[in-house]
Amino acid sequence: MVSYKSKAVERIRLPSVEERERALEEAGYNVFNLAADDVYIDLLTDSGTGAMSDDQWAALHRGDESYAGSPSFERLESAVEDVMGFPYVIPAHQGRGAENVLYGTLLSEGDVVPNNTHFDTTRAHVANQGAEAADCPTEAAHDLSREEPFKGNFSVERAREVVSKVGAENVPVVISTITNNSTAGQPVSIENTRRVRAFADEIDATFVVDACRFAENAYFVHERENEYADATVAEIAREQLEYADAVVMSGKKDGLVNTGGFVATRDESLFERCKSRAILYEGFPTYGGMAGRDLEAMAVGLREAVEDAYIEDRIRQVRSLASMLEEAGIPIYEPAGGHAVYLDAGSFYPHLDSSEFPGQVLVCELYREGGVRGVELGSFAFPDSDRPELVRLAIPRRTYHREHFEHVLETAVDVYENRENVNGLRLATDPEIPELRHFTAELEPVSN
Ligand SMILES: *Cc1c(COP(=O)(O)O)cnc(C)c1O
Repeated sequence: MVSYKSKAVERIRLPSVEERERALEEAGYNVFNLAADDVYIDLLTDSGTGAMSDDQWAALHRGDESYAGSPSFERLESAVEDVMGFPYVIPAHQGRGAENVLYGTLLSEGDVVPNNTHFDTTRAHVANQGAEAADCPTEAAHDLSREEPFKGNFSVERAREVVSKVGAENVPVVISTITNNSTAGQPVSIENTRRVRAFADEIDATFVVDACRFAENAYFVHERENEYADATVAEIAREQLEYADAVVMSGKKDGLVNTGGFVATRDESLFERCKSRAILYEGFPTYGGMAGRDLEAMAVGLREAVEDAYIEDRIRQVRSLASMLEEAGIPIYEPAGGHAVYLDAGSFYPHLDSSEFPGQVLVCELYREGGVRGVELGSFAFPDSDRPELVRLAIPRRTYHREHFEHVLETAVDVYENRENVNGLRLATDPEIPELRHFTAELEPVSN
């Protein structure tokens, strides 16, 4: 079953092998430095890279650009209330802007924040307040092959250990990220969300859901949590968010827009406190760094994100790429999550040490072989961590079709067959902030 046909199209071109080799060299073997026109199939991220619907394009024309009290803001407010159940909304230019507004309001120096797994911008915003991010994933999270329905869950046991060490008075906020982006997009159950709610009450903390992929998460709940087999994705999404005091949202994910985000809450006093920081960093709280027309497109996108036809199509695409790769014997993280397929670079290149960045080698090989751009999430992106060597192939929403994925499959198979003949990479530049080096650092091949 497919849910879309195309109304506008964009040309793409596969550069020749020689052009790809040269582009890679000029990019310092870092695909963030490639020109997008030199990329054939772009699976770098699913953030803001999707296609808007005809209804969203139509809504752009309704945009009202008043500085304060725009009807476009009111339409966003209604969409957030209907889809997510929160009456108070503050727009932001994207998810990290919303994080700055909310965490800048809630956190202070010395606080500790448990989260199933902090997304990188969340971790940075927690640190920016002088607070400490404490990841509390389940045991199965980093096991590449364990078949569990909710590998993204928040471990309340681990969070309890954190609290017993630092004291509840230093833990004012608890976050659950659904789906768990930094754990291969794995979902979080409603049962787990209820437990986190109870835990937050116990220690008198504000419970925030990082809701960037709330609709994808709701689909997995529908599929895997018995109690919700008969509920719609829209009903499940609302119920899961009901447990939260507030959400941070990136419209670039399940808002189905190219940029935008917001904070939403049911707590009026928190809303009032967030407004001043919003004005300082984002804009007046009825536009928050967004054009009125973009508020309109996000309002429509939020409603579309929980339509069964949309979300089934979305998850089916991710899953079909995963099963095509799996059937061809390519090692991947299983089961596939909501927004991407993760290749297990450690199994591609057991002869490469983590200091030779096997994941980044795989990213370069995929581009060289087929013009496919993915992203490394292993020892290059996370220095000094013992995370698995993964390469993420993120699927932009409503953008690619089966033929594109067949090309990705053929490329991955060719790269896998050639796996014994590649050498590692080493850093050629040394960026100031090691945590952000995968965006900018240049590398060079290690010659044996
Ligand atoms: C993308 C994302 C963010 C940040 O949103 P941006 O729009 O990229 O600033 C925060 N949390 C999670 C889980 C995300 O996936």
